[in-house]
Amino acid sequence: MIEVINDKCVGCGACLKACAYDAIRVTDKLASIDLEKCTLCGACVQACVIRALQWNADLPGAANEKFWKAYVAKHGQKPSSYAAQG
Ligand code: SF4
Ligand code: SF4
Repeated sequence: MIEVINDKCVGCGACLKACAYDAIRVTDKLASIDLEKCTLCGACVQACVIRALQWNADLPGAANEKFWKAYVAKHGQKPSSYAAQG
């Protein structure tokens, strides 16, 4: 799934504007992603020029596992930028 690197995020809102699924909020100059809405389209990762959003396969928990299963079921494979890392 996509992780917000808190130390890097400056709250510019570019990712929020890029998200067609209303999955991003920016509160107190920090972005957060609603996993129930996020489709892993990757538009926000492209939009964040300071790379405060990154693909991360290592976040713990059942939510992460469920997320990738749903993504692969929908798209057939993991995103190329993720696959390249993994
Ligand atoms: S585009 Fe990057 S820096 Fe700007 S709010 Fe989103 S995550 Fe933060
Ligand atoms: S990956 Fe796509 S759907 Fe998910 S938060 Fe980013 S822009 Fe929105």
